[in-house]
Amino acid sequence: MDLLSEDFQSLTTDVLVIGAGGAGLRAAIEAAAAGARVDIVCKSLLGKAHTVMAEGGIAAALGNVDAEDNWQVHFQDTMRGGQLINNWRMAELHARESPDRVYELETYGAIFDRTPDGRILQRAFGAHTYRRLCHVGDRTGLEMIRSLQDRVVQLGIEVHMEVTLTRLLKDGDRVVGAFGYNRVDGRFVAFRCKAIIMATGGWGRIFKVTSNSWEGTGDGVAMGFDAGAEVLDPEMVQFHPTGMVWPPGVRGILVTEAVRGEGGYLKNRDGKRFMLDYDPKKKELSSRDVVARSIYKEVEAGRGTEHGGANLDVTHLGAEKIKKKLPSMYEQFLRLADVDITKEPMEVAPTIHYAMGGLRVEAETGATTLPGLYAAGEVAAGLHGANRLGGNSLSDLLVFGRRAGAAAGAYQREAGLGRLDESQIAEEQETLLRPLGGNGNENPYLLQQQLQQSMQDGAGLAREEKGLKACLDEILELRQRARRVRVPGSRRYNPGWHTARDLPFMLTIAEAIVRAAIERRESRGAHWRLDYLEKDEALGRLNFIAYNDGGQVKLKQRPVPEMPPELAKLFQEPTPSPAPPKPPATRPPSPKRVPA
Ligand SMILES: Cc1cc2nc3c(=O)[nH]c(=O)nc-3n(C[C@H](O)[C@H](O)[C@H](O)COP(=O)(O)OP(=O)(O)OC[C@H]3O[C@@H](n4cnc5c(N)ncnc54)[C@H](O)[C@@H]3O)c2cc1C
Repeated sequence: MDLLSEDFQSLTTDVLVIGAGGAGLRAAIEAAAAGARVDIVCKSLLGKAHTVMAEGGIAAALGNVDAEDNWQVHFQDTMRGGQLINNWRMAELHARESPDRVYELETYGAIFDRTPDGRILQRAFGAHTYRRLCHVGDRTGLEMIRSLQDRVVQLGIEVHMEVTLTRLLKDGDRVVGAFGYNRVDGRFVAFRCKAIIMATGGWGRIFKVTSNSWEGTGDGVAMGFDAGAEVLDPEMVQFHPTGMVWPPGVRGILVTEAVRGEGGYLKNRDGKRFMLDYDPKKKELSSRDVVARSIYKEVEAGRGTEHGGANLDVTHLGAEKIKKKLPSMYEQFLRLADVDITKEPMEVAPTIHYAMGGLRVEAETGATTLPGLYAAGEVAAGLHGANRLGGNSLSDLLVFGRRAGAAAGAYQREAGLGRLDESQIAEEQETLLRPLGGNGNENPYLLQQQLQQSMQDGAGLAREEKGLKACLDEILELRQRARRVRVPGSRRYNPGWHTARDLPFMLTIAEAIVRAAIERRESRGAHWRLDYLEKDEALGRLNFIAYNDGGQVKLKQRPVPEMPPELAKLFQEPTPSPAPPKPPATRPPSPKRVPA
């Protein structure tokens, strides 16, 4: 570490990983394996990203419980779930490589739930044809992050905690560093590096009701956008069907899909299992977009529960199974809502959960459209298309984290350190300091709340042109007001100051979401337009891309990459039917390793 300036701390490394969730940690491990010096930066403490909150499991076609499963079926499920606007090559790599990444996680120390004969146990999940989710009760993310974190610590990779990076630094077109601040003392920090891997997760916090934590403000996508990277399919925002509803303070907290995977029933206020009407085949395990819309329709029809949701009932599973398979849910409802789920149903409603959109990347390498900038995990887009299947995020982090790490590791061997442009640093310092001085009169918290409310109302689960346009007007007005934000206090741990810098990020992404949502005049996956209820064949061949045109959010279209005939052929065959449930196999394990 060398201190080059009184104004900011200056650090140099080969590969800078921004984000310490599953994607960032897996990428860091691989970049280090390629011989790079790697530094990781995260906004909170190591071990605290969204990844640790993941409950249900990791999707990988191991075929341990349903022997018929294979990568081709996983590939088809992912593409069908994404309504075929996914990047087919990402979906192919993901389906082929997930099993190896899960076995690899075991070598890092992860211990999954087992079948009676000792293989990794897999559970059913929405829209997966076979039982496919490798899990550890309902605490899978904790096990995943623990194993990856141990590996990172063993490798001696330096982690800079409680540091928020806010700007990518460029030398010409190439990304050569990043600038930001230490959240504790407000001190500025500049990283100089040969490559950056963006792994900052999603943007759920742009909406009012969300399962995401305070960290999900979309910084990585906005930083990439500001620097000139392209943002793919921003309109595709996932509403998880089951978030907590009551009491108000816990609204939006996730109720894992594992509850339905383990056999939970969704019932309306009359006690009817309404999913039998909406999707008689898959019922509660239909895809998330379908289940979320079904709950919405039940509430709209006056059949909702007391606080505007549905009942999710597991009481028929018995207390022992509930406490063994869903321990976190049992505790969550007991502690937060005073509900014993072994005796009473959970009240649930849709909650904003996941960003399918994000930085546009190359499938093989995670390279963005900017040289030197790679991206992996929820911040990157393409794999999930219009709707992500449960469990496909954790496997995404491992597959594409590894790939981005390898690619950045190889790139840094050839690339030298670029030149840090002091005017870019000065500009960002000025942006960061502005809310602490001047005559502004706007409160960043109030603006953030207004944005969240506008997005919830105008760009939520059910969208239409009028509401989207009103939402866009509000965003543009908030953009003006955000320039006049004023924050009392100093740079020492000052959450108001942090929020002031988060705001422009959130506004940029909100604008991209809404502009693309207006243009996608059809209903597809998570994007449900009440004024265009059907799919549009022409739009189904297009992805939307938001790009930075002199500080303005502009949109363009790009044809969805065309599948090669051998993969396209899979979609002409009928979807395989899941085998009737049977107990896990008891024959000796024959681990299936799928070649990468
Ligand atoms: C409650 C919940 C349950 C879920 N359950 C499942 C599940 O069972 N299966 C599944 O597949 N998926 C699940 N998901 C989704 C999945 O957990 C996430 O999509 C995934 O963990 C995202 O991982 P990531 O590495 O991309 O980002 P994250 O885990 O979100 O990590 C982002 C990292 O970036 C850092 N960061 C962000 N901005 C900055 C910045 N400006 N400067 C520095 N650092 C920054 C953060 O501090 C953090 O370390 C769940 C999500 C939630 C919220």
